[in-house]
Amino acid sequence: MRFAITTLGCKVNQYDSAVIESRFTQAGLERCDFDEIADVYVINTCTITDRADAESLKLARRARRRNPRARVIMTGCLAQASPEKLARAAEVDQVVGLARLDDLVSAATTHQDLPRVMVSNLRKKKAQLSIGAVVPAGQTRAFLKLQEGCDQFCSFCIVPFSRGTSRSVAPREVLAVLDSLHEQGFKEVVLSGVHLGGYGKDLSPPVTLLRLLEMIAERGRIGRVRLSSIDPEELTDEIINLVADSEKFCPHFHLPLQAGEDQLLEKMRRRYQTDHYRERLERILGRMPEAAIGTDLIVGFPGETGEHFKRYFDFVERLPLAYFHVFPYSVRSGTTAAKFSGRVEASEIKRRSELLRQLGESKRRDFVWRFAGARLKVLIEETREPGSQRLRGYSRNYIKVLIQGPDQLKNHEVDVDASAGDGLALVGRVVHVSGHSAGRSPN
Ligand code: SF4
Repeated sequence: MRFAITTLGCKVNQYDSAVIESRFTQAGLERCDFDEIADVYVINTCTITDRADAESLKLARRARRRNPRARVIMTGCLAQASPEKLARAAEVDQVVGLARLDDLVSAATTHQDLPRVMVSNLRKKKAQLSIGAVVPAGQTRAFLKLQEGCDQFCSFCIVPFSRGTSRSVAPREVLAVLDSLHEQGFKEVVLSGVHLGGYGKDLSPPVTLLRLLEMIAERGRIGRVRLSSIDPEELTDEIINLVADSEKFCPHFHLPLQAGEDQLLEKMRRRYQTDHYRERLERILGRMPEAAIGTDLIVGFPGETGEHFKRYFDFVERLPLAYFHVFPYSVRSGTTAAKFSGRVEASEIKRRSELLRQLGESKRRDFVWRFAGARLKVLIEETREPGSQRLRGYSRNYIKVLIQGPDQLKNHEVDVDASAGDGLALVGRVVHVSGHSAGRSPN
């Protein structure tokens, strides 16, 4: 049997799709492209906006047209948040919620009568979080999701409803998976979660993210550990100091700001103000001047006036950020913000987003070029840079570096003398190769 899977939305969904793919392959199914004729189509949906909902259903229709006899299975956030909506669609055979991997495999492989909708209430039922690392194609770093769900209820966000209550993987399991990744030859791991700052509160006894990171610093054998997104109010001085003092952690933080204006932050139900955000950045850079700090920004939140946006833009312009991701606001039914008045015109959202994107690009360039002339530790990736055929890798502070060199350098951390390069990447000359390859051949 052949299956095809397509993924909408964020990195967490991509992570889940990789886990689904590996479970399906273990069950004897063979992966094919979504544009090919498959026996089973899985659509890993996103529900972050109403537009994402429509896109998920469009993909179901496309799958049905491609093979009218195939099973079309919807999973992911939309399946979890609005299963009945999907079950009403004639092109959908099954709706399987999050954290129901076994049911997903059954839906794909058995021909028994299964319920059309298999979804648990993840705010009431504490579903087991399965742990496993995922390596996106062509990359060298592994992603390890150690936390799922969220209890924060920011007013624009559907995640606490779709992904359920916060749950975490126990530290001993995290350490065991890190050890196993090290044995397989991985040099870098990204610790990720839907709301990483909430890590461990649900465990018995509770564990803080700081405690987990201390254990990794003491016992973990992976040489490069990166944190994914962490909210500004949860990035404590202790975590900053630990990252600065331990050679294992990369000086790279992703601190979602969401809006650079206090009234908007309040309406978004974020738990910090702009002063606190700025102070966190100063604290990080006081300890690690070379650190890369990135952020997420929402533009055109209901009630965002021209005055708000001006203050927002000025605030962000003055911040020492290395990059940002800009998200034009789009309504998500079911969230508190969907009921807010003061919608911003689509054309105005587009204009403001473009201004911030341009600012983001110039900040990215300034950050990258600051390191032309520096010596950087670069982990070489498995695939070469398309077009140029040069090897590519990332420094500890997340700068892309392109290098001429043999395939043997792949999956090695090398010392590189960097010079100004193409656009947003530096060009490097290898001066030292550390460690040795464990012979891993990912992907
Ligand atoms: S912290 Fe806020 S934005 Fe992040 S997942 Fe939770 S509710 Fe959504």
